[in-house]
Amino acid sequence: MSKVTSNAAASGGEVIGRDGDPTVRKANAQKLKAGYTKKKRFFECCYLSASTLLWCSNVISCGRYFVFASDANLMQLVWMPLFIIGAMCLADMVSGLAHWGLDTWGTPDTPVFGSFIRSFREHHVDQTAMCKHDFIETNADTTLPLLPVLLLQYLRIWANNTSGNGYVANLHVSNIGLHVFLCTFFVLVAITNEIHKWSHQAKQSFLVRKAMGYGILLSPIAHRKHHKDPFDRSYCITTGWLNPLLDSTNFWRHMESLVTALTGAIPRANDQTMLGK
Ligand SMILES: [Zn+2]
Ligand SMILES: [Zn+2]
Repeated sequence: MSKVTSNAAASGGEVIGRDGDPTVRKANAQKLKAGYTKKKRFFECCYLSASTLLWCSNVISCGRYFVFASDANLMQLVWMPLFIIGAMCLADMVSGLAHWGLDTWGTPDTPVFGSFIRSFREHHVDQTAMCKHDFIETNADTTLPLLPVLLLQYLRIWANNTSGNGYVANLHVSNIGLHVFLCTFFVLVAITNEIHKWSHQAKQSFLVRKAMGYGILLSPIAHRKHHKDPFDRSYCITTGWLNPLLDSTNFWRHMESLVTALTGAIPRANDQTMLGK
């Protein structure tokens, strides 16, 4: 069996980058995996639970608006897909920016962001490691920055409703579109890593496969472009819709030139070290 074929079989159908020293990569993969501590797990459970409760409450409030508010009408339901598509585009852009930032700069020892950076470094040295992560380890990190904004949305929804539409929450004809947009955006950001994980799995569920086939979610073929050394393109990992535009306009290189000019930092310096370069 050729080296390429055996690599592909070992990675569940993916061709793992073959550059760099494999011994260094393996040692770094184990070191990065060990960085996932019980303390981190505990905090993950806390912020994942809190953000899930807040999001569910906000979604139920929005859903009940269409049933119980006197100003809810059929035309609003016709417009809602536009808010949902807009939120999907924004979530894809945010996933790209976060992925690019955490891939390109800092180290696992960087204050505040170190634990997030660790996951991204681990993913490059061992891209199938995330397929062994459970739901909490995969998704909790992305819910942490969402927590304050979900709370803010919850407080806005439960502020006094002065619109006179008879609905118990502060949702009315002029703000329901915004809240549908926010609920869609927040859930897509929260499950970005789950979508990313699906794109690395050898087999996906029927619904996920269909969504990938219709281009609604990031597909394995589209994401494979990112995993070509030196991991410097196709950063968007939610729908992947923005990758062709951002790659073809050299958006990420322009951003890196700007950061290097301002800070002197070298893009992907630590990532390349972890890959045994
Ligand atoms: Zn990456
Ligand atoms: Zn990946």
